[in-house]
Amino acid sequence: MALKITRPQGTEDITPKNINKWYTVEEIARETAESFGFKEIRIPTFENTELFLRSVGETTDVVQKEMYTVKAKETEFTLRPEGTAGTIRAMLQNGMLNDALPQRAFYILSCFRHERPQAGRLREFHQFGLEMAGSKSPAADAEVISLAKNLLDRLGLKNIELNINSIGCPKCRCEYHKALRSYFSAREDELCDTCKTRLEKNPMRILDCKSPICSDIAKDAPVILDYLCDECKEHFEALKKYLKNLSIDFTVNPKIVRGLDYYTKTVFEFVTTDIGAQGTVCGGGRYDGLIEQLGGAATPALGFAMGIERILLTMESQGCEFMENRTCDIYIAPMDELASLKAMSLAQQLRADGYHAEYDVMDRGIKAQMKYANKIGAKFVLVLGENELESKAAKLKLMSTGEQFDVHLDERFLEEFQDLAVRYMFDDILSEFEEVVK
Ligand code: ATP
Ligand code: MG
Repeated sequence: MALKITRPQGTEDITPKNINKWYTVEEIARETAESFGFKEIRIPTFENTELFLRSVGETTDVVQKEMYTVKAKETEFTLRPEGTAGTIRAMLQNGMLNDALPQRAFYILSCFRHERPQAGRLREFHQFGLEMAGSKSPAADAEVISLAKNLLDRLGLKNIELNINSIGCPKCRCEYHKALRSYFSAREDELCDTCKTRLEKNPMRILDCKSPICSDIAKDAPVILDYLCDECKEHFEALKKYLKNLSIDFTVNPKIVRGLDYYTKTVFEFVTTDIGAQGTVCGGGRYDGLIEQLGGAATPALGFAMGIERILLTMESQGCEFMENRTCDIYIAPMDELASLKAMSLAQQLRADGYHAEYDVMDRGIKAQMKYANKIGAKFVLVLGENELESKAAKLKLMSTGEQFDVHLDERFLEEFQDLAVRYMFDDILSEFEEVVK
């Protein structure tokens, strides 16, 4: 027998059985983003490599170690490792920044990073994220953070801490880089090779290095908060005031620098301890220089991205509720070929009316069909045989109680089914509805 082909390491299949969990997160994320004035954007899965070099940054782990770069014919592309660069590129390319500001866009997409796969760390993973362009006000930072918080609350998550920091602007960072260089130079020999080159080019990146020796050395490094210019300081103070006003608890964590080069001023993370080491479920911040760096007019902007897999892991570990998959409303069980024809046309009518209808396509006997209807959780079953076709009347069985109802197999059928559905399926629909609203 031929060897079975398995999925690549670090990827996951999302099967129909689990799709309700994804729908729950996606639907609530969409609703929350829309309630804050964001609309969905869809961008390509791959972009010109140059886009990520110029945004994410050449000295970041993402660019140096994690990108999937592919060559097709003579052209080179990179599978997006994150969504911000592509979204800003699309905003520029589609002239969105010439429209009313702020521009607000959210996305749900897959990202690709060549990392060591482990719980909560995949090579293909999914993000819900958003970007707001045009506002330099700290009120925008508070708005974006409050959206993330709102979403986490609506998903039913608990024990998620918000950490915030300011990593300043190029002005204050100049002094800070000097301080970092002088601090790390003293132990340059011990740094990993990547960080040795970062020391000259981008010393802040050393603070985000995952190597144990580098992170140990970085423990006592100078912190950026001591080097902020007046403008950055004021911005950060205002943000804290706004968050307090919104009753959003936070901790100032001067160690956060984030793994992407484009951030300025505010950076933040939502972290949980419930899913092990990869506990950052959401990361984001302000990137006032990025749009100009990508060839647009200088425009302040900010955003965040949530890892959907990590959100799901946390929801599962905390026993959060998920929407149920919609099940079959009516299963039609034909006993012979003639009845099959009738089953097909009834199902067609029912589906056109919005019901989930199924009938036998396996040539099974009636007993096996009933077993199947049970298994898929059909709410009603309609058995069709010679007698039923002849008399143009049949029994509709309500599976939850075993009760039987008389229905006509003519033009009255749909209306009779609708009546019964309203009477007996309403509880189900109501509880599904309540779950979504919650
Ligand atoms: P980490 O510190 O965990 O590596 P990051 O700083 O690289 O995260 P971002 O680039 O800011 O993460 O991405 C935003 C979010 O996407 C993260 O907070 C996380 O929830 C999720 N994420 C990032 N990388 C992965 C991955 N390899 N697998 C699953 N989720 C991920
Ligand atoms: Mg990372």
